Amino acid sequence: MADQPNQKKILLIDDDTFLLDMYSLKFGKAGYEVKTADSTTVGLKMLRDGYVPDIIMADIVMPTMDGLEMVTAVRTEKLVPQAVIIMLTNQGSPDDVARARKMNVDGYIVKATTIPSEVLKEVEKICSSKKS
Ligand SMILES: [Mg+2]
Repeated sequence: MADQPNQKKILLIDDDTFLLDMYSLKFGKAGYEVKTADSTTVGLKMLRDGYVPDIIMADIVMPTMDGLEMVTAVRTEKLVPQAVIIMLTNQGSPDDVARARKMNVDGYIVKATTIPSEVLKEVEKICSSKKS
């Protein structure tokens, strides 16, 4: 699978390493090239160092710098402008969703209610709606 030219690259950023492992397994099995970061600091450094994923899926609530602050930096520094950006939000946080909308992210997924196979489907749905 590693030499598939159209293999999509996804960068997963979450401070919850259990979720990171779970999603990374799911996306890996579906043929994605997966990289993970357990903090926005690490994720942002990968992007600043030149890593260009097709999709960034990031948690919002994280210590030090939250996911939306990281997106602000990504936008301001014009890192990976073509990447699809998807936020993972906690259930019942209208504030997160409002902030995510303001940042003009491509989509958000409510974590608490979404199992990995649904996350995968949702990500593919968001990506195909961005393309068209
Ligand atoms: Mg978190």
